[in-house]
Amino acid sequence: MLKSTPLEIRAGHKIKLRELSAWLLLNCNKLRSIFLTGSIMAKILTILSIPSPSLREKSIAVDLEKIKSKKLKELSADMAKTMKEKDGVGLAAPQVGKNIRLIVVNTKDGIICMINPKITKKSWAKEWGEEGCLSVPGVYGHVKRCKKVNCIYFNKEGIKTKIQAEGLMAVVIQHETDHLDGILFIDKAKEIKKIKTA
Ligand code: ZN
Repeated sequence: MLKSTPLEIRAGHKIKLRELSAWLLLNCNKLRSIFLTGSIMAKILTILSIPSPSLREKSIAVDLEKIKSKKLKELSADMAKTMKEKDGVGLAAPQVGKNIRLIVVNTKDGIICMINPKITKKSWAKEWGEEGCLSVPGVYGHVKRCKKVNCIYFNKEGIKTKIQAEGLMAVVIQHETDHLDGILFIDKAKEIKKIKTA
């Protein structure tokens, strides 16, 4: 793999065409990925916390014609970057003030963007687990969730996708889709404990 190198430009330093073309050649893969993913340009968004009204609203479905729009691509890239930065495992659009049905989830295979996610099947078996939320800082509680769920969503390319999730992934999907209906984990939790935040 080619390694990128900085192109040094100093006052009075004339860049030779040969140098510039060599640099472009060396960095073309990196430049291409920046333009394709916009990842370098992604911003860290402000996460709303309670009692923000946006967290209590029912979010509206994303118009299928807008799935591949630049605006939606930017929002999902920004949400992915924000989630990573804040060490979250999932983030829903209402948490950044956008009341649309869009979530990002950090899976073992990388971050996935789920547009209009819908849980289509839930297991009878449930289990208690501890949860927290970036919008309810310093609070943790035990929530009873279904052990397995099936979920249908549209991916970033607008392709209808189905996943079967269990364990942490199933919990994250249930927690994040609740956000799209204005439901927070504290509505369902017991043994809520507060930890002092800095
Ligand atoms: Zn949350």
